[in-house]
Amino acid sequence: MQIISGTVVAEKVLEECRRDIAALAALGKKPGLAVVLVGDDPASRAYVRSKDKKCRDLGLHSVKLELPVTTTQAELLAHVEALNQDPTIHGILVQSPPPPHIDEAAIVRAIDPAKDVDGFHPVNVAKLALEDPTGFVPCTPLGCQRLLIEAGIETKGANAVVVGRSMIVGKPMALLLMAKGPGGDATVTVAHSRTRDLPAITRQADIIIAAIGRPHFITAEHVKEGAVVIDVGINRVEAPGTEKGYKLVGDVAYDEVAPKCRAITPVPGGVGPMTIAMLMANTIKACQQARSEERR
Ligand code: NAP
Repeated sequence: MQIISGTVVAEKVLEECRRDIAALAALGKKPGLAVVLVGDDPASRAYVRSKDKKCRDLGLHSVKLELPVTTTQAELLAHVEALNQDPTIHGILVQSPPPPHIDEAAIVRAIDPAKDVDGFHPVNVAKLALEDPTGFVPCTPLGCQRLLIEAGIETKGANAVVVGRSMIVGKPMALLLMAKGPGGDATVTVAHSRTRDLPAITRQADIIIAAIGRPHFITAEHVKEGAVVIDVGINRVEAPGTEKGYKLVGDVAYDEVAPKCRAITPVPGGVGPMTIAMLMANTIKACQQARSEERR
């Protein structure tokens, strides 16, 4: 059984990022990422902090905009518009979820698709479906695909079952796996909460992508011998006696599933580190594409 280390693969992606950043620096360019946070949700704050830190570690230009929870839709739109116009910013990300009075879909649509490094803008969703390489693909599924490629897992012709159909993970993951080329060409099934007899469906899978948001949901009965399992889930469960009082677990019951697998990702240390690495890679791609546009 192979444990696919997201930590190791993410470091490889970041090494490529450093190389690309150096090449851009030689041309007088520095990729810039702006992360916008509205409100003071502690988990969102932690995510924003770690994105900002990763940018700075790599030597990217990083702007962290922390706005009060009272920020109106119009004010937020004005901030997004200013970032759209800012030539030092190549990627814009508005941390999800915003407070309930904010229309998140309208904010996403206001971001310049060329700076939408989260890949949530309708233009980028369409580009993914169209297999247009100039589009931005959401970072988590992009990271999952990269893990499969780096682990030497053949996706071509494989039966892949994606459990979850969110716009952030499940749906783009399915599109990536069915696209033509490396890390694609799979026969894809997408399961969700209305799926009948999920274990019977997942047991057909050579590759299972679990993106459900329920701790230890995928058990040994869901998995055939020799399957590859990518666990996207990050769930907080109580852990009395530990310093924090909680721990992070995946959507897969790792201890009972891993022995049946050909390969599996752990939580933590699997998909998690890939997401932020792909965000850096997307920001660099946005800068490279902006430069190509300038030269036209
Ligand atoms: P989400 O928007 O809540 O979507 C969950 C999906 O799971 C939905 O499509 C839902 O079906 C499906 N589902 C729920 N219960 C089910 C059941 N009993 N059987 C089958 N399917 C079921 O969540 P998400 O944003 O995609 O995130 C999924 C997990 O990934 C979460 O644990 C999240 O924390 C984690 N995540 C991790 C990263 C990372 O960087 N590693 C990034 C993003 C998300 P319906 O559509 O029918 O409701």
